[in-house]
Amino acid sequence: MGKVIECAKVDPSSGCTHVVRGKTEEEVLKNAMEHAKQHGIRQATPELMVKVKSAIRDEK
Ligand SMILES: [Zn+2]
Repeated sequence: MGKVIECAKVDPSSGCTHVVRGKTEEEVLKNAMEHAKQHGIRQATPELMVKVKSAIRDEK
């Protein structure tokens, strides 16, 4: 079972429906940071990392 992060859970105001996936928490975080670039985020702040980590869910 993998891990997923719904972009809308991290930033509902973005209106983004992208779902980031990864096999592990580490991988999904890495992929989320890649996706963040599409939102103009080049460097994750500690605050953003907290939001992203709390949005990690087990893939159904
Ligand atoms: Zn997004």
